[in-house]
Amino acid sequence: MVAEAPIGRGPWERQLGIPNIGARQYRGRIDLAAAGSEFGAMDFSLTDDQRAIGDAARAFAEAELAPNSARWDEEKHFPVDVLKKAAELGFAGLYVHEDVGGSGLTRLDASLVFEQLSHGDVATAAFLSIHNMAAWMIDRFGSEELRRRYLPRLTSMELIASYCLTEPGSGSDAAAPKTTAKREGGDYVLNGSKAFISGGGVSDLYVVMARTGGEGAGGVSAFVVEKGAPGLSFGAQERKMGWNAQPTAQVNFDDCRLPEANRIGQEGEGFKFAMAGLDGGRINIASCSLGGAGFAFDAAKAYLESRRQFGRALREFQGLQWRLADMATELEAARLMVRRAAHSLDQKNPKATQYCAMAKRFATDAGFEVANQALQLHGGYGYLRDFPLERIVRDLRVHQILEGTNEIMRVIIARELFR
Ligand SMILES: Cc1cc2nc3c(=O)[nH]c(=O)nc-3n(C[C@H](O)[C@H](O)[C@H](O)COP(=O)(O)OP(=O)(O)OC[C@H]3O[C@@H](n4cnc5c(N)ncnc54)[C@H](O)[C@@H]3O)c2cc1C
Repeated sequence: MVAEAPIGRGPWERQLGIPNIGARQYRGRIDLAAAGSEFGAMDFSLTDDQRAIGDAARAFAEAELAPNSARWDEEKHFPVDVLKKAAELGFAGLYVHEDVGGSGLTRLDASLVFEQLSHGDVATAAFLSIHNMAAWMIDRFGSEELRRRYLPRLTSMELIASYCLTEPGSGSDAAAPKTTAKREGGDYVLNGSKAFISGGGVSDLYVVMARTGGEGAGGVSAFVVEKGAPGLSFGAQERKMGWNAQPTAQVNFDDCRLPEANRIGQEGEGFKFAMAGLDGGRINIASCSLGGAGFAFDAAKAYLESRRQFGRALREFQGLQWRLADMATELEAARLMVRRAAHSLDQKNPKATQYCAMAKRFATDAGFEVANQALQLHGGYGYLRDFPLERIVRDLRVHQILEGTNEIMRVIIARELFR
């Protein structure tokens, strides 16, 4: 799409003393696609199939997740049995190929599922999203042998998978892992530790990024490590602010031996695979923020209708109406960005990484803010555990930190802008 754009030096530029070097160079036609605006090519409506997928996820969330979410949080219970039921609906391999039991859906479809599941329980839906990410990495980059060995059992959730990139000394600097994988005969021997691993200690499979070569991203390879491998052990479960319905633990490798066949792809490709996994992972986590915040929004709206103060329903105070209007607007903007990012990944758009980072940054910030405002609109009751708001706020907070912090999302976006 092309638009006429007369750009010249305006009064504010004169005030700031910016020289008028650009007026002539920039005047003229701007390619809106190159400028990042591709809405002309997009259809915003969902298909009947997509609506049906979303409805199925919502029904599952209402029947299986929502009635239990407060208890799971309180008891720190990881509902593996319920996750297996979700797998029966195809939610454990959403964008894994069908020949190994996956659902063969698009990233946009998956985003709809994670948003709807998170209406019922954020922590469980978010774990499922990580399992999907790990399974996809094996499907997309693993050998045929690895695909056949693991994916039928991952898509049924007979096996549960974790994604292991972060280390105690390398979080945001993810290309600097110290965990090593050294060749010994036909095996690899792993030494080191991974920190904050979702599912750690409970999962059956660990997709692990470890160093096989020199410094930097090019020295990292990816492996599948089975629980029970010699030399694999786990730290104590972390005590967390939220996400209590899923475990988090350190994963340790002490001369942990695996067959060469458990390497995913070639040596040196692991970091690239890890980042490709995270592009989709970020859409998923952002979708979980949309769902959790959507639930909080609905609760706040209902509360404003029913709660009376000063002889009136709270909904009659314009300040609160405007607050709700802003929350709805933020959520809608976030939803559009997430769906656009998912669509860009489905289309293999070269800007997909940037869109995923933008969507993750925006939707997880907006989701947290909307949930926090919903808590505020409940007054003192929002702070009580008898109401779901404080749990949703606690659960959504970590989405601003993991799968790349929101500061790192800005690093990625800026890098692409200056590329
Ligand atoms: C509950 C939970 C579950 C998790 N699950 C997983 C998992 O399953 N698998 C996994 O691999 N990891 C997981 N993580 C780890 C998570 O991805 C990391 O915590 C995150 O990437 C940040 O790394 P860090 O904690 O080491 O923080 P640091 O990297 O030390 O960052 C500290 C602060 O500095 C900022 N910062 C760092 N570098 C820059 C920079 N260049 N510019 C601007 N700001 C910067 C960060 O944004 C942050 O605010 C999980 C974390 C949590 C809390």
